[in-house]
Amino acid sequence: MASDADDPRQQTFQLVALGEVDRQRADAQSLVDAVPRVLAARSRSSKDAQSQLEACQDKLKGFKAHLKTLELDLADRESALSKANGNLLSAKTNQEYSLLVAEIGRKREEKGAVEERILEQFEVLKQGEELVRNAQARLAEALEEYKAFEVRARSELAGHQQELARLDERRDQVRRAIDPEVLKIYDRVYKAHGDAIVRAEGNTCQGCFSTLTPNDRNRLLSGRQLVVCRACQRILYMPEVLQASPS
Ligand SMILES: [Zn+2]
Repeated sequence: MASDADDPRQQTFQLVALGEVDRQRADAQSLVDAVPRVLAARSRSSKDAQSQLEACQDKLKGFKAHLKTLELDLADRESALSKANGNLLSAKTNQEYSLLVAEIGRKREEKGAVEERILEQFEVLKQGEELVRNAQARLAEALEEYKAFEVRARSELAGHQQELARLDERRDQVRRAIDPEVLKIYDRVYKAHGDAIVRAEGNTCQGCFSTLTPNDRNRLLSGRQLVVCRACQRILYMPEVLQASPS
């Protein structure tokens, strides 16, 4: 590899290869990083289904409590009615008797109204139970879906991690073929920009699109020197120079 480090064209080849490996590594890393985020977003939908179920259960509880109140009211009215019926036997005058009959009639009507409300409340309760059942079904569905998604996501994650390990190995290999001083430049620029080696197209750095000086352009064309962009410090190369056979 020492001979590679001495040959500027080989150095540039290796730098281009390193740039490519680092780009692929960044892609693989962002896929790895995305998995927990995507899973968290997915788990939100089953959390939503859970809280909807809880809201339905609370509603049903309210319906049941209301039914209980109506039933207690009915029981009160029934005992008042039987008391009034008992009073009927001890009526002393005709007037008292007809007043009691009228009162009993009124109480019966009121009791009938409460019974109707109880029947209505039973219907409301049935609807509430239906809501809870639907919410339970939606939650089960959301959990099922999440589980399937999680299995897929975890297996994809394993794939990305494998790819990352492969790229790490390749990266070590490429770096060993590059002069340590050149690597220092590369690493510093990579840290600043997220890439460190770019093409020069015509007179332009493809990293920052500033124009090269004629001198830098000539040095690049000679293929014998490491040239960095004066504006962004990225290492520059010309594909046409790399492809040309060594002179
Ligand atoms: Zn530049």
